[in-house]
Amino acid sequence: MELSVKLQSTSSGQEFPFDFIEEFTPEGESLEVVIPGITAAKIKPGRFLWERFADFLPFSSVDSEVSLGEGNTPLLKAGKLLVAHTGIRNLLLKNETVNPTWSFKDRGSLFCVWMAKAMNEKVTATISTGNMGNSLSAYGARAGLNVLVFVPTFTPVEKILAMNIHGATVLKVGAPDYSLMKNTVLGLAKEFSLRIVSGNGPIRVEGYKLTAFEMFEQMNKTVPDFIAVPTSACGHIRGIFKGYRELYEAGLIDRLPKMIVVQAANNSPIVSAIRQGKNHIIPFSNFKTVAEAITSGNPAGGDEIVQKAKRYGWIAEDVTEEEIIESQQIFARAGLFVEPATATSLMAVKKLRGQGKIDSNQTVILMLTGSGLKDMDVLRKQPQNTVASSLKTIKVDLQGILNSL
Ligand SMILES: *Cc1c(COP(=O)(O)O)cnc(C)c1O
Repeated sequence: MELSVKLQSTSSGQEFPFDFIEEFTPEGESLEVVIPGITAAKIKPGRFLWERFADFLPFSSVDSEVSLGEGNTPLLKAGKLLVAHTGIRNLLLKNETVNPTWSFKDRGSLFCVWMAKAMNEKVTATISTGNMGNSLSAYGARAGLNVLVFVPTFTPVEKILAMNIHGATVLKVGAPDYSLMKNTVLGLAKEFSLRIVSGNGPIRVEGYKLTAFEMFEQMNKTVPDFIAVPTSACGHIRGIFKGYRELYEAGLIDRLPKMIVVQAANNSPIVSAIRQGKNHIIPFSNFKTVAEAITSGNPAGGDEIVQKAKRYGWIAEDVTEEEIIESQQIFARAGLFVEPATATSLMAVKKLRGQGKIDSNQTVILMLTGSGLKDMDVLRKQPQNTVASSLKTIKVDLQGILNSL
């Protein structure tokens, strides 16, 4: 660890030592890693992103054996169908579903596990609706840590089983509301001195920052106009933006992208606040959405995003349950099987294009945050096209199908 690295509150500016390792300030403000000498940071040769961008990282040495090969994900052209659907010609897809546990969370888990090892922790714990727990379970297994995951009852069974097979212990907690459950667990964690890794901690955000560096390389050092991010705990969106901000501070780019905050209409604490020009989130509770990976109704650190949106001219949109299901299908028809939370961004940018907030020739990246395979139940809402056949009827069945194509 670099001793000159500090943590700083993103609202009050109050500083903390790097090994403070709390996820938020005592006042609940988000913390950010401040990299010393960022204006002189240079890109170096190296095989891994963390080698090429070592000047931008808070660790002076890292254990590459803990990596599971996260990152290096494709940045794809969206293709004809999605371009026609959204009316955005330069639409790109950053496919984070091909990470080791099928979501972008892996980039942050690597950093959290590095930190846990550096602090000699034996147990690492998180509260998760699924992907974060799955990811931490895999990286904890890799690093030889005990992993404890608190999940709500609505977490899909696919995600829970994926935690269990890595050897993690899962506590499935019945509660009327996810935020309520989070607060109870956080209180207990204090009592038992158990550090809970959140979706928006400063170290995790450093891992997400590398996504910006990767896209910067993939786009030949150019910057997109917009990046759409389905948002819940807010770690991903602020990590990506921090990456671009640091590239800007280092003089490697001459402008910043604008972020697009995307949420489900049934739970839009941040999008609602941005739309209404508020400075603080508008908490949601007792809601239901198929987009189970974006269900933080009262995210700690959400105010930072609302305030950044104002300061940097970010935009925001929410989407209904029907629009989420429809978007998941359209993505799949374009060859990409994403989970409902991820699907939100497609309809969001289509609507923003319709409102004229995005021009047809601007470059927009959709972050494909997680894979559709981890939530099979929701697929019952999608059209089925399986013909029941047998050796007796297959000839007639096949003839009928071929005639209809
Ligand atoms: C975690 C997650 C999000 C939200 O990211 P935050 O960092 O919590 O804002 C979006 N989509 C998927 C699939 C996720 O797993």
